[in-house]
Amino acid sequence: MTHSMSSSTPDFVGRHIGPSQEELEEMLQAIGYADVEALVDKAIPQTIRTSDALAVEAATSEAAVIAELREKASRNRVLTSMIGLGYYGTHTPGVIRRNILENPAWYTAYTPYQPEISQGRLEALLNFQTVVADLTGLTTSSASLLDEGTAVAEAMALMHRATRAKDDSVLLIDAQVLPQSIAVTETRADAVGIDVVIADLRKVTSAKDLEEFAGGRKVFGVVVQYPSANGEIVDWSNVACAAHDAGALVTAAADLLALTLLKSPGEWGADIAVGTSQRFGVPMGFGGPHAGYMSVREGLERNLPGRLVGVSVDADGAQAFRLALQTREQHIRREKATSNICTAQVLLAVMASMYAVYHGPDGLRRIARSVHGKAVGLAAALRAGGVELVADSFFDTVTAVVNGSADGVVEAARERGINVWRVDADHVSVSVDETTTEPELAAVAAAFGVNAPVPADGEPTWAKSLVRESEFLEHPVFNTHHSETEMLRYLRGLADRDYALDRGMIPLGSCTMKLNATTEMEAVTWPEFANLHPFAPAEQTEGIRELIDELEQWLCAITGYDSVSLQPNAGSQGEFAGLLAIHAYHEANGNGHRNVCLIPASAHGTNAASAAMAGLKVVVVKTAPTGEVDMDDLKMKLKQHGENLAAIMVTYPSTHGVYEDTITELCDLVHEAGGQVYVDGANLNALVGLAQPGVFGGDVSHLNLHKTFCIPHGGGGPGVGPVAVRSHLAPYLPNHPLSSHAGPDTGVGPISAAPFGSASILPISWAYVRLMGGAGLTDATNAAVVNANYVASRLNEHYPVLYTGEGDLVAHECILDLRGLTKDSGITVDDVAKRLIDYGFHAPTMSFPVAGTLMVEPTESESKFELDRFCDAMIAIRGEIQDVMDGTIAAEDSVLRNAPHTAISLAGEWDYKYSRKDAAYPEGVDPMRKYWAPVRRIDGAYGDRNLICSCPAPEAYED
Ligand SMILES: *Cc1c(COP(=O)(O)O)cnc(C)c1O
Repeated sequence: MTHSMSSSTPDFVGRHIGPSQEELEEMLQAIGYADVEALVDKAIPQTIRTSDALAVEAATSEAAVIAELREKASRNRVLTSMIGLGYYGTHTPGVIRRNILENPAWYTAYTPYQPEISQGRLEALLNFQTVVADLTGLTTSSASLLDEGTAVAEAMALMHRATRAKDDSVLLIDAQVLPQSIAVTETRADAVGIDVVIADLRKVTSAKDLEEFAGGRKVFGVVVQYPSANGEIVDWSNVACAAHDAGALVTAAADLLALTLLKSPGEWGADIAVGTSQRFGVPMGFGGPHAGYMSVREGLERNLPGRLVGVSVDADGAQAFRLALQTREQHIRREKATSNICTAQVLLAVMASMYAVYHGPDGLRRIARSVHGKAVGLAAALRAGGVELVADSFFDTVTAVVNGSADGVVEAARERGINVWRVDADHVSVSVDETTTEPELAAVAAAFGVNAPVPADGEPTWAKSLVRESEFLEHPVFNTHHSETEMLRYLRGLADRDYALDRGMIPLGSCTMKLNATTEMEAVTWPEFANLHPFAPAEQTEGIRELIDELEQWLCAITGYDSVSLQPNAGSQGEFAGLLAIHAYHEANGNGHRNVCLIPASAHGTNAASAAMAGLKVVVVKTAPTGEVDMDDLKMKLKQHGENLAAIMVTYPSTHGVYEDTITELCDLVHEAGGQVYVDGANLNALVGLAQPGVFGGDVSHLNLHKTFCIPHGGGGPGVGPVAVRSHLAPYLPNHPLSSHAGPDTGVGPISAAPFGSASILPISWAYVRLMGGAGLTDATNAAVVNANYVASRLNEHYPVLYTGEGDLVAHECILDLRGLTKDSGITVDDVAKRLIDYGFHAPTMSFPVAGTLMVEPTESESKFELDRFCDAMIAIRGEIQDVMDGTIAAEDSVLRNAPHTAISLAGEWDYKYSRKDAAYPEGVDPMRKYWAPVRRIDGAYGDRNLICSCPAPEAYED
């Protein structure tokens, strides 16, 4: 067991943990405990407590960790990538790299559920939606998906839902869709029993042709790649007509850069477009993170998975942005949700949108022409040298017929510092991008034994009918910020509107908004990590793969599991992977019929949505009045479903923020009934070093590296959701068709497009563990528990803490119950959340897991100063509620109901019943660090009724 931090505590541990030793002692005293050990001993059930110190090596200094990372980086060999397949070289404009990707104002923000303090990133995401909608020629785009592969899978689900497809209807995928997208979609289809047929769809002219491919069954959806994986530009308009005749929908997986010159999918009849925005300035990063996208034609917008930003108005009638429709999709619709996506790729979507802002439509067209011109030059040189090409019509990729000598060509290119793609023994494909230079073109030509290419002018060389004629990105935002000065100021202006961890604490229960230390971030943008293609040969990626191995081992040591896959790129995806492993295990044991997944009522909405995606039937287990899983109800449900029980999904400590002592019994009962135990590990920040889900009864967990392990939230992504399993489930972890290192041969298939998911942000978590060491990680957990209990004890008399465990203690978060106050005053959790903005805070988690409550998670990183500032604000707000309860002021007239207050509202006419000072500078607000919300309270319902999801027409700005 580790003890209180000593003077030998490595410097970094003391910096990561907010409170000093003295402050921790003061807080312990306030809670009534002599030391951390006594508190933790009381709070955590002895039955699950680990007795050994964490088996993670001791911490080292920040300088030493950077040196270790440099050494690993040096063992990656970054060649020029011409592999393509959805991942391309790109120039990240410096102003975007430094001011977004490396700027905590952007990367430490949370998902914009509190829109009034998120206007900057909401505008950036609206720009992203506009880019996608304009380029794809469809009406509505969401604010990002996880990657292109999962976007295709989501499109399958959407087409299935929207066509009300019967069980035996079929999805047709063209054979030239990216191989990883096909594989990810097959994994998803398998889980819910959808049949997928892969076929060459180029010759399709009628509905009958399609149904023939489907063996006479009905086709509900068709997926094509545009341009195809081999580079060919195919006119899919006949396929679209045929599909519509057959009652099917059509998805085009399309390249955004190509679409600047290529007729848009919407114009030739696609209903849905999906893809990645990676080549819009986001480094390849060995596979991710990048923002996937999806756009749909009119009529399908209410089926869109993921978040959608829309335009609405605030209380003063000003234009304001907020998340539309599906905001809390999984929490409201549970297993009927359109998808399980929660954390997506906001930071990367913001980057891609800014690449479009930076270049504008003309700049993007210029880049696309230059790319195409290089490809045309290369093709001409190959043909002149007698090399046959598979297609005459292409944008950036040429596939050469090499008659058995693919290995030789690939090797010759590699000797010249270039990776090209070996399609099979007879074909090699080469993709050029905006970074490709003439010497590189000459080198790749030499690998084929032909003369150096001369780039063409870049005028489209494909059929006139497929040349783009429609305009795009005509909105002023894409035609204004083209000097670096203007761009810098635009980015700064947006960031200034937002509240992120760089301004103050974000006490969001279940989200663990802790420090994202600068040293942890540094390696992300190093070229040795940033510029690796996910399918680069293994001998070029030794350093990053060693880092991945070590991180996996540490996560095993921390959780007590035997095996980890880092492929899932969000917690939700880890859930899906874990449930697939459970299902495959049952199947292997002749128990394929086990299909019931028990989920406590208090579970996160993604749990139910993931269970449905995995083909499981959700059965809800009740919550006892004390907040624990209702054990009687559990026993009844086990009896009822025993034969068919697949698993229980339980969060520990539960979303009620308490270490329940029933967890061991729960695990035993489920195991006795033949079920597997899935422990949702989102709350691992309460367990690291103290208890191990893999030991106390879990068979599988997902972790959220963007919560417990310091990957910043990015305003709603990226994330990493590793899935950790005990050995009996290890054979069923995800794998990948294009990388034998990514998982077991017996695995369930890929669940992300890239073998190691969001690999380029793994150095963040690696650095965190290395900087903290086993003892420091345990100290962090202890401090998180002290901080939460301190806040609970300070606020309990003002807002009752809803659930507590042994010794009236909470775990790492606490739920404040406002329902009584709401009943007596009419003041809601919403009012309190918005009033907190005036005081300079981000609201706690609202109404999850219990409606009418606020869930506070301070994390270990917040100092006592900040905790007190927050508690003081909450207590002052309680006084304002009292005024309403006492009848001093009506709820509608109160400072709470009218919050937040903008600077402009103070400057105008003032007919409120409280002073301007009470509105903007209540007691405790330091005038020197006042945060001003840029808009007043936003009317969400108005925006849902009047759905606008791309940049409003320029005229809207005129008055
Ligand atoms: C955050 C969270 C999830 C989902 O994780 P994402 O990375 O957002 O997909 C699941 N369960 C719980 C309890 C969570 O807090």
